Amino acid sequence: MDGWLQKRLEKYGAWMDENRIAFSSRVIPVRASLADEQWVLPTEQVLRIIKNAESIALVDCVCRRHYKRCAKPVAVCLLLDGYGEKLIEKGAGKRISYDEATAVLEVANREGLVHLSLYRPDHKLYALCSCCACCCHDLQLLMAHGQSQLVAHSDYVSATNMEACLHCGQCIERCVFGAREWVEAKMDYDAARCFGCGLCVTTCPVNAITMVMKPA
Ligand code: SF4
Ligand code: SF4
Ligand code: SF4
Repeated sequence: MDGWLQKRLEKYGAWMDENRIAFSSRVIPVRASLADEQWVLPTEQVLRIIKNAESIALVDCVCRRHYKRCAKPVAVCLLLDGYGEKLIEKGAGKRISYDEATAVLEVANREGLVHLSLYRPDHKLYALCSCCACCCHDLQLLMAHGQSQLVAHSDYVSATNMEACLHCGQCIERCVFGAREWVEAKMDYDAARCFGCGLCVTTCPVNAITMVMKPA
């Protein structure tokens, strides 16, 4: 593990030991993956998060700026309330409206980026990020370093209508969590590995995938 990740892990570990965070980030489904009637149910929803924010600052993704491992967009980090205000004051962030924030989130969905809500001590949600598995600190810690306590699942899990599935493999490419893979030239889905990001739903050409709420 490199020094940058090590420092993050140590900071998260201290916060967790003091019981000041339950996890450092949580997967949030992309808006377009949910039907309207599903949208109003859980509290941690992407549009609700930005609607409830007193202010939103658009900030460059520090993880992709640091690692430079992919060509995914960098202007996708949404810092909320006081955290965003500080960056706006410093000139490191740009104040944006709710509509501009939803446009940023649509770009993130098109680009296959996973929405993560990020938490600071005392469980304070401070950012809504759109992350790639190769550069994101939390997704790296989860996927490459086994730190599964850091990233919480969303309230949803995907379900696939296998009768409609064409086995085209598009959802396999979109799923950074490895919940979808090729098995004997067919798409195979393991719900236990699904984090509920919704990215497979918005790519399936025959709408064979839906998001379902996990039982309470
Ligand atoms: S958490 Fe995600 S969007 Fe935020 S800085 Fe890291 S990769 Fe970028
Ligand atoms: S299967 Fe993968 S892409 Fe689809 S919702 Fe689950 S984690 Fe996201
Ligand atoms: S994208 Fe849809 S049709 Fe293609 S393999 Fe996945 S579920 Fe099947």
